[in-house]
Amino acid sequence: MNREYVLPTAALRGVVMFPGTTVSFDISRNETNNAVEWAMSHDKQIFLVTQKDVAVDKPSITDLYKIGVVAEVKQYAKISRGLARVMVEVKCRARMVEILSRTPYINALISEIDDLTDENEIASRAFARSIQERFEQYVTISKKFPFEKTEGLKPSNTLSGLADGVASGINTEYPIKQEILETIDVYDRCEKLLIVLKNEIEIADARRKIDAQVKKSIDENQREYYLREEMKVIEKELGSKDGFSEEIEKYREKIRGLGLLAEYEEKLLKETKRLSRMNQGVPDSAVTRNYLDTVIELPWNKASEDCLDINKASEILESEHYGLEDVKERVLEHLAVHNLTNGKDGTVLCLSGPPGTGKTSVASSVANALGRKFVRISLGGVHDEAEIRGHRKTYIGSMPGRIIDAIKQAGTKNPVILLDEIDKLGNDYKGDPSSALLEVLDFEQNSTFRDNYLEIPFDISQVIFITTANNLATIPAPLRDRVEIIEVSGYTTQEKLEIAKRHLIPKQIEKNGLKGKRVSVTDEAILDIINYYTREAGVRGLERKISQLMRKLAKAILSGEKKSAKVTPKSLVSYLGKHKFLFDKKNEHDEVGTVRGLAWTSVGGDTLSVEVNVMKGTGKIELTGNLGDVMKESAMTAVSYIRSKSDELKIEEDFYKTRDIHIHVPEGAVPKDGPSAGITIATAVASALTNIPVKCDVAMTGEITLRGNVLPIGGLKEKSLAAYRAGIKTVIIPDENCRDIEDIPEQVRDEMKFITAKTMDTVLDAALSVHL
Ligand code: ADP
Repeated sequence: MNREYVLPTAALRGVVMFPGTTVSFDISRNETNNAVEWAMSHDKQIFLVTQKDVAVDKPSITDLYKIGVVAEVKQYAKISRGLARVMVEVKCRARMVEILSRTPYINALISEIDDLTDENEIASRAFARSIQERFEQYVTISKKFPFEKTEGLKPSNTLSGLADGVASGINTEYPIKQEILETIDVYDRCEKLLIVLKNEIEIADARRKIDAQVKKSIDENQREYYLREEMKVIEKELGSKDGFSEEIEKYREKIRGLGLLAEYEEKLLKETKRLSRMNQGVPDSAVTRNYLDTVIELPWNKASEDCLDINKASEILESEHYGLEDVKERVLEHLAVHNLTNGKDGTVLCLSGPPGTGKTSVASSVANALGRKFVRISLGGVHDEAEIRGHRKTYIGSMPGRIIDAIKQAGTKNPVILLDEIDKLGNDYKGDPSSALLEVLDFEQNSTFRDNYLEIPFDISQVIFITTANNLATIPAPLRDRVEIIEVSGYTTQEKLEIAKRHLIPKQIEKNGLKGKRVSVTDEAILDIINYYTREAGVRGLERKISQLMRKLAKAILSGEKKSAKVTPKSLVSYLGKHKFLFDKKNEHDEVGTVRGLAWTSVGGDTLSVEVNVMKGTGKIELTGNLGDVMKESAMTAVSYIRSKSDELKIEEDFYKTRDIHIHVPEGAVPKDGPSAGITIATAVASALTNIPVKCDVAMTGEITLRGNVLPIGGLKEKSLAAYRAGIKTVIIPDENCRDIEDIPEQVRDEMKFITAKTMDTVLDAALSVHL
């Protein structure tokens, strides 16, 4: 039978006490104070029971839990009026049977409760260990109090004591603790406790994580805040008006304003974010900044409006260029087709011809006529594919390729881009730039042109590409197939004169500030510049010389030396100095062993003399004048042919044993090659051996075979122009080239005679001054 007795009772708010623990707590209610005081003055025993609802001030029996504890008051101290601190040692559980009186304190009849145990040692030890372990874990994780201080873990403790001690140490809600207190069976109590501990550990763990996260975010925010503040101060110190953060914001705004596809916009915003986190001093930040600046500057959605009126385009081309009738016509046709197909016809023009013949200028007029921007990209010496397509931006100092760079320069996405000198594209280990260029020109692919630097595709399908080349033979074959070739050949002297009068001189007068001044250049003086100061197929050198002349005139006028200037051939020498080129004029007289040939060089056509001397000797043949292999073989073929014809030509039969033949082609320092001097050499050798002079106003070009047949050659137009310039009246050409005669300017055709030859017989007939 449990012991029953009457004890003063104190109602506890929010705490539950367990046997075996010593607890301090504050009390303030009168009833409680009275109960403690009574206990202190008697045997110090008191019954402590928790009230169900902390808010109730005067609890009735139903407001209190049934089970509480009997404790001994160890200390009692008043702190202030109505508030006292009590320390008690809790003895055992007890059930409140009934309340006997309520004043001056609650006096209750209570009945002590003993623990229920099974005395199974193994189970007890298992429980004890589990509880200890969990509790340790709980203490560590919750960091509530030092482990050693927990009373319930005294080594001498019983399982019940351990469970109660631990239960008292847990920081959990009081109803849960009350439940543990009310569990009389020790094993049941242990089980409950373990569950509570487990939950508490989980809660503590979760809390720890939350705390860590909160702390981290507070830390980060604070850190960022401090850094930004610090940066502001630094920026202020340095006097920079535009803060970094503002700059980043501006980048963001601009990127959003570009109107890119969402995925690309996202990518750029990411880059901006990266930049905002970077230390400003590191090279990486400069790279990223550069990248963003470049991308933002590109005209992603900016295009100029086309205003194509073919008549107006024709007018512009006409007004800016003299001659070039064919070229202008073809360009206009191209524009018309481009207009009708909305740029989808896919052809790309290639203007091919010697330098200074107006290729760039025609392309620029096309842009002008369309109201588009014009950019020129020089491809001469481009070896690396990356020059077309850009370097990846991870390389320091990398940039977009030339195409994107041109678009950037233009500021619109539909400029006219001139790809200058596609024949000079290199090709080496760094990749093949011509294949990159093919992609650029391919209308199927170029709406998503990928530059390595940009990483975002750019639409270049609205660009009009025009290409130029000096030499068709060296254009990479796939590119040649891709373009539509328009040949622009050299100008005649007459054409050059007109171009100078109509375009170059007015342009240079304006450029050198001589407009409105009385400056003029006579036609004779212009012709002298053309003939004696330049040697070219185009007019670039001529323009340079005119510019030089105008500068001198400007100086003379400004220094007051002259009021006006009329440039004549005589005064020209005082401005431009001595004649630079003494023109290869035709020979004054018919000569033996000297024949005028015609050559085709990069600056257009030229004449070249072939001289042959025959002297006594042992049959040696000497070739001089910096001749290439093909030309040497051609010379040997010519000599063999003449030898085979020695009978008909009435040459000494054993000349090849008794004579030495020396063939020389001046000027010795200039390399020469090609087979087209074949008939020229043969004629010179024949003349030297027969001692018959060659007509001085005849020039010739053609390859020779061993049998004396004449094979066709290239560049007839340029060669004829050169002959015309030299004052030649008759040109002997291979029979098969007669279809090219119509390409030759009319003026030249009218003033010169063309003799077509199938065999050497015709050549010799026409060239030698005495018929054999
Ligand atoms: P290319 O590109 O063929 O090397 P450019 O177009 O640069 O030659 O021409 C060189 C200069 O000669 C330019 O100033 C150009 O205006 C002028 N030019 C060339 N051909 C003509 C022409 N037919 N009419 C007027 N000017 C010309």
